[in-house]
Amino acid sequence: MLEPSQNVLPQGLIQSLKGLTGFDEAAFVKVHSFGATDVHSIRLNPVKPCINLEQRLADSLHANGVVPPPRITMQSIPWESQGYYLNERPFYTFDPLFHAGSYYVQEASSMFLGWALKQLIDSNASIRALDLCAAPGGKTTLLQSYLNNQSVLVANEVIKSRAAILQENITKWGAENVVVTNNDPQHFKKMEGYFDLIVVDAPCSGSGLFRRDPDAIKEWSEDAVQLCSQRQQRILSDILPSLKENGCLIYSTCSYSKEEDEAICDWLLEEMNCENVPLEVPSNWGVVTTESGKGAIGYRFWPDKVQGEGLFLACFRCKQPNFFTEGKKKKPTIGLSKQEIALVQNWVKDAGEYEYQKTEDLILAMTPTVAAVVEELKSGGLYIKQAGIAVGKSTGKEIIPDPALALSGLNSEHTVVVTLKHRQALQYLSREDMTDFWHDFEVQMACDGDEMQTQTKKQALKAKKGWALVAYKGRNLGWVKLLSNRLNNYYPKEWRILKKPVF
Ligand code: SAM
Repeated sequence: MLEPSQNVLPQGLIQSLKGLTGFDEAAFVKVHSFGATDVHSIRLNPVKPCINLEQRLADSLHANGVVPPPRITMQSIPWESQGYYLNERPFYTFDPLFHAGSYYVQEASSMFLGWALKQLIDSNASIRALDLCAAPGGKTTLLQSYLNNQSVLVANEVIKSRAAILQENITKWGAENVVVTNNDPQHFKKMEGYFDLIVVDAPCSGSGLFRRDPDAIKEWSEDAVQLCSQRQQRILSDILPSLKENGCLIYSTCSYSKEEDEAICDWLLEEMNCENVPLEVPSNWGVVTTESGKGAIGYRFWPDKVQGEGLFLACFRCKQPNFFTEGKKKKPTIGLSKQEIALVQNWVKDAGEYEYQKTEDLILAMTPTVAAVVEELKSGGLYIKQAGIAVGKSTGKEIIPDPALALSGLNSEHTVVVTLKHRQALQYLSREDMTDFWHDFEVQMACDGDEMQTQTKKQALKAKKGWALVAYKGRNLGWVKLLSNRLNNYYPKEWRILKKPVF
């Protein structure tokens, strides 16, 4: 929420918005003023369902010292079936399910991308999609949920530090059909005609996020809008040759300025051989349909008309010549010894369905389609940060399992599982010593017939020492190593939570 001193919107912005369809100056200023209601929303991960999430979210506030915690209610977002508004802002850091990738905290208007995807892509087709400006990964995780397992999503981010955050969020989301790259748009020039779908959620002047990020108000200027508009054209002209003939382009910004929205749509029609694709959008949602000078239809979210922040989105089909020739795929490099291949079987469910590659001792499991895309991206000179699921580091004799394996659906059903309570889970996520809780863990392990059985710690330890998954409310968080009188915490240092819960 804006503080009283922060709610001064730039006059230049207000002047420039006059005349735009749906702009209502008084209502717009009011929603940006001190005391205006904040909107909170999350999007669920369809492959990591969780029971009674409202209670978990309330528990997160309790762990942050709110007594008694308020009741949390979830209300559907009209344009996204997995999206929900929350009546309160939880303290996500203290909800282990947030770290497990059971949901993504995402601004509601941004989820409109899913509505566009539903109308643009055939959910049964295997496609190659590129999310060009992907960090921190809100739209990537949404897009991933709309693709089938035979499709591959390349999530690219040009800024290295932001690519690391993208990688973390994708790892927690747990999807096996995503490749993370760290490249400038112009590095894709060898991938001509390669992608069926490109999403460009462009860097912009950010006026649509002024309510959330009041500091952005100080950065705004008419010059910044012009510079952003030029950069958006540059990004699009660099990447459009990578789109297949008649492939789809989804362009979006979180700016209200026509220079970054309608003017870019006109340029795409006039200069880049693109055709605009209008969407069906129910009129009672409050989403405003816009029309550019050359007739391109787009969609603008005004925060006084929808429960959400500012967004502009428009869709196109582009007639790029299809240069990319299928069938020149190189055989992926395997690089795993016989012993490593045997070791992998102990860790990965349906291990035979994946191809494996090793980079600096890290073994990656990839579906054949992901492996093929990786080889093609490498041939195109692109820098790949992550692909498929990291199984673990090989020492030659054993595999040290990777957090990505714990967070994916690839874990072998034979893996021992340690079930934690809320407080224990937060201790684990803080990467603390777990010895204090040693007496009341529940350990589950596979027994004959492959059913999981719950055992007391003593029984479990007699039967098994070594690596175990750590889970909270049925969702995996990471790995521990069971020793005779303690367990070692292997939660990644760079992900650990720093704030202490108040219980
Ligand atoms: N799609 C993201 C999401 O939903 O979480 C948000 C993307 S943000 C609006 C724009 C991204 O573009 C930023 O991560 C930024 O680092 C990146 N970016 C900045 N300059 C760029 C450039 N010249 N080319 C491509 N991407 C750029």
